[in-house]
Amino acid sequence: MNCEIVAVGTELLLGPSVDTNSAWIGERLAENGIASHFHTAVGDNPARIVDVLRIALSRSDAVIVTGGLGPTSDDVTREAIAEVMGVELNLDAKLEAELRAIFAARNREMSPSNLRQAMRPDEAVAISATRGTAPGLICPVGEKVVYALPGVPAEMKEMMQRAVLTDLRRRSGETQAIVSRFLKTWGVPESVLGEMVAPRVQALESSGNLTIAFLAHGIDGIHIRITARAQSHDEAVALLDDEESQLRQLLGQLVFAVDHQTLESVVGNLLSAHRMTLALAESVTGGLIAARLTGVPGAGDWFKGGVVSYATEVKQSVLKVPDGPVVTVSAAQAMAQGARNLLAADVGVGITGVAGPTEQENQPVGTVFVAIDTSDSVETLELHLSGDRQRIRETACITVLDALRKKLQERPLLEH
Ligand code: ATP
Ligand code: MG
Repeated sequence: MNCEIVAVGTELLLGPSVDTNSAWIGERLAENGIASHFHTAVGDNPARIVDVLRIALSRSDAVIVTGGLGPTSDDVTREAIAEVMGVELNLDAKLEAELRAIFAARNREMSPSNLRQAMRPDEAVAISATRGTAPGLICPVGEKVVYALPGVPAEMKEMMQRAVLTDLRRRSGETQAIVSRFLKTWGVPESVLGEMVAPRVQALESSGNLTIAFLAHGIDGIHIRITARAQSHDEAVALLDDEESQLRQLLGQLVFAVDHQTLESVVGNLLSAHRMTLALAESVTGGLIAARLTGVPGAGDWFKGGVVSYATEVKQSVLKVPDGPVVTVSAAQAMAQGARNLLAADVGVGITGVAGPTEQENQPVGTVFVAIDTSDSVETLELHLSGDRQRIRETACITVLDALRKKLQERPLLEH
């Protein structure tokens, strides 16, 4: 079974939109063990879409099309598919009723052009719209199949997960459970990570039921995907558990989170486990760390607040940083202690540095000092980060959160 992807939309050819849909679908197909050899982008032109679909069907068993299912006259994917199927496109009464219900529920007037979205090629099966208004379509073409999904990424992803993957797996005769897990790492480049886990990759080469892949996510670190195949979901999860513990032995503290966890949610869980609260004094990061932490539901249990002490006089008057240079390790320490005292928290973190574009106090751009003060001990870091202003601020943010995570993980849990 192989499946190719066709992205429809003139905006994809002219540049304003980047085809992230195909990349995302490609990843899902790989995870599900379905081969995919071609991605095509084509403009909103019926004849050219028909051409591309015919070529795709000549070499692949299944085709996933995204985009061009909207209500406007440039949305022509439905017409093109009907032509390739050699069937008529007719108004589907059930889809029309669903569409009218969606508009009624949102108190919106339905224009006649919206009825285009209730058109269905004969023999095609609709995938009802739960997020947007455009239904998707499962369109048999002989022994093969074309799936049409909306271009809007959130709508596409939901239908792909709900309807397409199951249908594809059924058609491919795949009965095994395929489950993936992501180990998120921060701190070493992909090449080093590759060398560290090489023994596991080699051990798995012959096994056939587990695979490991690396996915670089820039400022979110490098994620290691483990995919397991087994007769049942539980068996696949057991394989993942075992592989995760083998990988953790090689990676140690580099793994900061698993699957949907984030660095900030992990920090929050650790603070909760220690029954500790946190206060920040941010200069160079200007509140970025506080913003990430407060994005975690329940942050109020462990995050007291932060001082964006950007100006020197604020560091001195609010946080009691002594007179003198403020891009120093001792200033970071004073900021951490000041925040901890001022906000009555158990842990104080101070961050001061130079994001650029010009140096400050003779310290080059990218110099950042961090102090983590847990009252019984103070840990300091001196960072030399590269990149532009934004990159330096974001890297400082993730590095500080990661240092805090490690410090909390090393700390013995007290019995309460
Ligand atoms: P709608 O019903 O919302 O009109 P549609 O199926 O007609 O959806 P399009 O009009 O082609 O989809 O695209 C809607 C929006 O979805 C585009 O403006 C674009 O931002 C986004 N989009 C479309 N195709 C892709 C793609 N391949 N990758 C990423 N985003 C896309
Ligand atoms: Mg559209």
